[in-house]
Amino acid sequence: MSSIAENFQSVRQQIDQAATQSARMPQDIHLLAVSKTRQPDELRALYQLGQTAFGENYLQEALDKIEALNDLPITWHFIGPIQSNKTRAIAEHFSWVHSVDRLKIAQRLSEQRPATLPPLNICLQINISKEDSKAGCLPNEAETLLNQMALLPNIVVRGLMAIPKATTDSEAQAHTFTQMQTLFHELKKQHPLLDTLSMGMSDDMAVAIAHGATVVRIGTALFGPRHYPQN
Ligand SMILES: *Cc1c(COP(=O)(O)O)cnc(C)c1O
Repeated sequence: MSSIAENFQSVRQQIDQAATQSARMPQDIHLLAVSKTRQPDELRALYQLGQTAFGENYLQEALDKIEALNDLPITWHFIGPIQSNKTRAIAEHFSWVHSVDRLKIAQRLSEQRPATLPPLNICLQINISKEDSKAGCLPNEAETLLNQMALLPNIVVRGLMAIPKATTDSEAQAHTFTQMQTLFHELKKQHPLLDTLSMGMSDDMAVAIAHGATVVRIGTALFGPRHYPQN
């Protein structure tokens, strides 16, 4: 079994290589370590190797880890489904939320963001494969939502996030990521400060990077297989 250090090095290499192959700068692609189901010690080990951004899906699990690791200056990203009664804790404890897909959630996050903290960074989640089971707004709803969210004072809409339909077919992956890239460029005409395209996971990070991902969200390739089935 490979160690977290070896996995980290391998993931960094894959990102660098994918960036170089797409004529992009490796430093323009940010690695978000997805740490759902992992123990605080595993996150700590990765932090000590230089990883500072961690993504969590489940609020209570995340809050426990934030508490356990509060001696480290970690940047916490919330990437899971959001129920409206959970927005306050998210607004209080995270720097980023990738999974905002409706105005009501954005409004609550803005209202509940503590005045002592900088604005909360938001990505609008797009249901790019139009799956009934998936969260996210439809691509044709994104512009209106973005225009509305841009008016909220305590959040900053930074870009888009997607979880495409799982497939090992790299052409299908490329097709979906191209749709995201096109949508992102369209929206940037109205919102030039958008700078974040959060897409690509362990199995498709290279394809995502080839199509403009600026954040890849990586779990298993860093930590190994998850021990219980989630998402
Ligand atoms: C679990 C998860 C990931 C990471 O997936 P891996 O295949 O383990 O890299 C990325 N994004 C989201 C939203 C997730 O829930």
